[in-house]
Amino acid sequence: MSAFDTLKAQIGRRSFLKMAAVATAASVTNSFANDGITRAATQEEVKNPFPGSKHVKSICTACSVGCGVIAEVQNGVWVRQDVAQDHPISLGGHCAKGSDMIDMVRSDVRLKYPMVKRAGKWKRISWDNALDEISTKLENLRQTAGPDSTMFLGSAKFGTEQSYYYRKFAAMFGTNNIDHQARI
Ligand code: SF4
Repeated sequence: MSAFDTLKAQIGRRSFLKMAAVATAASVTNSFANDGITRAATQEEVKNPFPGSKHVKSICTACSVGCGVIAEVQNGVWVRQDVAQDHPISLGGHCAKGSDMIDMVRSDVRLKYPMVKRAGKWKRISWDNALDEISTKLENLRQTAGPDSTMFLGSAKFGTEQSYYYRKFAAMFGTNNIDHQARI
């Protein structure tokens, strides 16, 4: 066991991660502080930077494993994230996608509703219109080029039942061109 692993084992994974985060934050903050961009946090901010916030148990949506995350919410806004140590499946673990879930959810470029590009411009459309447009295009493709002109790629978010439905959908469409997106 390396000295690094020994240290981790001695102080516990959670404490180690906290120490690593503080060390990284300290070095980054120092470089900003030298430029006069930042100031030191007040004692109150360190103690409770989001007054009145509450902790909400949730799950990561990036794949169907469903690891536990704790969302700290202030006035209806997700402001900080922690791992759920007591989650029965993930047991306080995360992959890189899950640990960044808060940034994915709050991202400015997150797609929140169906969009269509017309005359070079993106335009919001309803779910009904989106489904109509997609099904019309798929049907046209099937009629003109045959069902094997398509390829169905499943999602890592699919559970067992969703995967079953998706496979059935491709078969009913008339093709065996189906796979999991991770294989590409
Ligand atoms: S943290 Fe990673 S493994 Fe867990 S649900 Fe999210 S994407 Fe899946």
